[in-house]
Amino acid sequence: MHIAIIGAGAAGCFAAVNIMRMMPTAKVTVFESGTRPLAKVAVTGGGRCNLTNSFLGVRSVESVYPRGHRLMKRLLKEFSHEDAYRWFEEAGVRLVTQDDQCVFPVSQDAMQIVNTLLSMMRNSGVGILTGHRANAILESAEGGYDILFTNGCCRHADCVVVTTGGSPRLSGLSMLSTLGLDISEPVPSLFSLSLGNDPITALTGTVVGDVFVAIPGTRMRASGPLLITHWGLSGPAVLKLSSYGARWLAEHDYRANISINWFGDANEVDVAGMLSAMAADNPQKQLHSVFSRRFNSRLWLFLLGRCKMRPDMRWAEIGSKGLNRMAAMLTNDIHAVSGRCRTKDEFVTCGGVALSNLNPSTLECRHHPNLYFAGEVLDVDAVTGGFNLQAAWTMGYVVAKSISLRP
Ligand SMILES: Cc1cc2nc3c(=O)[nH]c(=O)nc-3n(C[C@H](O)[C@H](O)[C@H](O)COP(=O)(O)OP(=O)(O)OC[C@H]3O[C@@H](n4cnc5c(N)ncnc54)[C@H](O)[C@@H]3O)c2cc1C
Repeated sequence: MHIAIIGAGAAGCFAAVNIMRMMPTAKVTVFESGTRPLAKVAVTGGGRCNLTNSFLGVRSVESVYPRGHRLMKRLLKEFSHEDAYRWFEEAGVRLVTQDDQCVFPVSQDAMQIVNTLLSMMRNSGVGILTGHRANAILESAEGGYDILFTNGCCRHADCVVVTTGGSPRLSGLSMLSTLGLDISEPVPSLFSLSLGNDPITALTGTVVGDVFVAIPGTRMRASGPLLITHWGLSGPAVLKLSSYGARWLAEHDYRANISINWFGDANEVDVAGMLSAMAADNPQKQLHSVFSRRFNSRLWLFLLGRCKMRPDMRWAEIGSKGLNRMAAMLTNDIHAVSGRCRTKDEFVTCGGVALSNLNPSTLECRHHPNLYFAGEVLDVDAVTGGFNLQAAWTMGYVVAKSISLRP
């Protein structure tokens, strides 16, 4: 049986290696449009590759996979984060789990993951053809599929696995147009927010360890570290919010308000209590000189300005009304978002091939036998933390197993 895998990314290469393990006599060819296989994996996690997560502290699969959580819940039973951890360690990659539960190679080098997968593919006889961009998949009269490439090549395969990754534009999925699949309109996810000329951007480089961010009037909210950049807001809390709100934000042209609770999960009453205690302990000190350890002095001065408080005022002068006003602002600091940043720090696609096209147990296309999908090309995406690569490993593995179990 000749199996063609279209796209030499995380899902495609992982599927190829596992197919060869399960079916050593299969002929597997991976077709890649670019010049290098696994090029994106090489830059993941800032070049360190956050390849999975311990899932400790994950409240629900839905909280980390805003799209595709039901499918992922089912598939993770087949190949979980623990399976992925074991799989890579058995392949010779020692792994480490950070305090934030993200898993990286001990070498801190994404190229170790790339080279491990590539040598496993080569050693097991997988063919890798770069410079092959598929532009159509046609059902063949004698069974199987003919794949047409933009370089003029045409290849026949008994079984095709599409692992072409995310594409924030519908045109990126045009190769599938002959198949009549339902497509969920792709839009970007995991992006930083631009705040235009908001003076907060002067604090570029400031990190606050634990804030709560929300889009007022919606149910979209997220918590975690916040990074202030020269264009606006970033960091895990904002990336998570952009993931939860990917489609809503696209529909609103990335214009919205963002509310920041600078004290994380503490509510207005809690914060008013903290401020009163601070005032009681330091009545003669000036506001600028006594502040919570979660802020640096530049950010505290900025926040005092937002609260309309003079930095040289003494804590005793504020009074309970003033303290309440400060608490209200510090727990609901509203800024206007003027757009999304276009840097591709850890950008993924929300949307893609709709899951309704597939058998959720095998990832085989319902109306096109022997045609499988895996990875970000599907309408599955996650927040940051190693969950996107975990989805690629899980789906790549499930497709390999499904193909190997075909009657
Ligand atoms: C900068 C960056 C950092 C990231 N860091 C992390 C991280 O640390 N942890 C994490 O979990 N996730 C991370 N992600 C997300 C993660 O990389 C992706 O979710 C994951 O690579 C998806 O795997 P995939 O195999 O579906 O697609 P990809 O890895 O994107 O692979 C798809 C492949 O298909 C090829 N292709 C596309 N179209 C065609 C075609 N028509 N014909 C032939 N080939 C084609 C592409 O060239 C590509 O090589 C990061 C993303 C970015 C952009």
